[in-house]
Amino acid sequence: MILDIKKAGDPVLKEVCAPVKHIDKSLRALLDDMAETMRKADGVGIAAPQIGKAIRAVVIDAGDGLHELINPEITFKEGTVKETEGCLSVPNYYGEVQRFARVKVKFLNRWGKQKHLTAEGLLSRCIQHELDHLNGQMFIDIAENLTYREGDKK
Ligand code: ZN
Repeated sequence: MILDIKKAGDPVLKEVCAPVKHIDKSLRALLDDMAETMRKADGVGIAAPQIGKAIRAVVIDAGDGLHELINPEITFKEGTVKETEGCLSVPNYYGEVQRFARVKVKFLNRWGKQKHLTAEGLLSRCIQHELDHLNGQMFIDIAENLTYREGDKK
């Protein structure tokens, strides 16, 4: 099911999201809907608050397949890199954001198993962008040289 993507200004995007307590069928259905919504919108990641649920869950596909991260926590980070980002909740706006170059993240998968993922490049950037959403932070709050570009999708 395609979900409605909340846009900047919606209070749910400013919330510090609650940890997921029950990993069950309804959560798995939500993760499926989030992935479908992300793909339809041509995005590389979506966080639960972006579809109106203030819980700590994100889906990402930065070109290497689908990652579903429940209650994610960054356990290691190194280096810095500044690149252009956009966000499905802020259509047509792009800005440069400084991020860690490499991160390791610990999370639960859709079956409640603890997993670890090491990421660099676009995947690392997406993880940091989506995890910011779980703390009510939008990229436009930290971006430099924010510009509006009509017609682009990302
Ligand atoms: Zn975003």
